[in-house]
Amino acid sequence: MRQILAALILLLLIALPSAQAPTAAVTILRPARVFDGDAAHDGWSVRVRGDRIEAVGADAAAGAAGARVIDLPGTTLTPGLVEGHSHLLLHAYSETSWTDQVSREGLALRVARAVNHLHLTLMAGFTTVRDLGTEGAQYADVELKQAVNQGIVPGPRVLASTKAIVATGSYQPKFVAEWSVPQGAEEADGVDGLTRVVRDQIGRGADWIKLYGDYRWGPLPGAHPTFSLDEMKLAVETAKSAGVPVAVHTSTPEGMRRATLAGAETIEHGDGGTPEIFKLMVEHHVAWCPTLTAGAGPWPPADPNSPAATRKRATFKAGLDAGVTILNGSDVGTFPHGENARELEAMVAYGMQPAAALKSATSIAARVLHMDNQIGQVKQGLFADLAAFDGDPTKDIGALRRVKFVMKNGTIYKQ
Ligand SMILES: [Zn+2]
Repeated sequence: MRQILAALILLLLIALPSAQAPTAAVTILRPARVFDGDAAHDGWSVRVRGDRIEAVGADAAAGAAGARVIDLPGTTLTPGLVEGHSHLLLHAYSETSWTDQVSREGLALRVARAVNHLHLTLMAGFTTVRDLGTEGAQYADVELKQAVNQGIVPGPRVLASTKAIVATGSYQPKFVAEWSVPQGAEEADGVDGLTRVVRDQIGRGADWIKLYGDYRWGPLPGAHPTFSLDEMKLAVETAKSAGVPVAVHTSTPEGMRRATLAGAETIEHGDGGTPEIFKLMVEHHVAWCPTLTAGAGPWPPADPNSPAATRKRATFKAGLDAGVTILNGSDVGTFPHGENARELEAMVAYGMQPAAALKSATSIAARVLHMDNQIGQVKQGLFADLAAFDGDPTKDIGALRRVKFVMKNGTIYKQ
């Protein structure tokens, strides 16, 4: 009996690898052109085997007898797009204010919505999101990521940051002063507090740590810095031990300066960026998520020459002129999920070339997120995260609204 068992196990060991390799499905994708993360190439096709890209180029269709062939005429095939700044646990402020969502909508209700948000995001061609804070929904982003990875619900790859971290007294919601209510992010201060909270969030599954480097607080109007340079440095150093990068929400020049000097890897919003600050960011290799279309307002804005829109456009131009690395990130969740492409439209409307905007959502995004050996290019060996759009988004960024095909990890989600 023991001999038979041993023989059976041996048979299995021999049979398994050779039995599995040839069964990995091979798919040939034939669009009009391929944007590989760098440039558009007419007449290229892509061969996918299992969850990986096996070949790209004019000859990629050859040498795969029996492969499934998918023709995508008139389309541009691109790497799956990256959303650098999402809030899957929020829904549009035009539907419900942030305060009402955080204080009146329960965790299960918010997660139920988020499942839909994951699906909408994927259908829009966005196959990776960096989710920058659950806004009171605890660690639900980590568990949503697990649900996607386990195939329970469809969705993009999720980089989670859990609760995000704010300085005591600086955040929301605020009720009467006698009521201590849970905040939309986790409060932490000083050496002990920040070290403990950064470590705790990493322990609970944070892929990124998010700090709020400034916020609208104090007696004066507008945003004001929160964490000191030393506090931010400590958070960065603590996170770095675990290989976790830090993103800092900041809109004031002083907050941006502290985040840059502290070793943050991305700055979120940066509305008050000046040429000097952007130069400093370039020197310290800090990328910028401009979130041009963040907020409840429609895109394009009702008045493109409003003071707010004019300011945004001027800041974006200063960042472009300084050569700051730009990561596509929209703050989606403040506006409806699935409309992520509006951020790329805004970047182009405010002076970026369409191909450069596409790179900020593909190859450059992958580099900023430390995922360039996995995603962000149509390149042999990377994960088969691909999207096809009717037309040519390297010339007309509006083509990103015409999603014809979405594949993630070699699985087709939209065709
Ligand atoms: Zn945000």
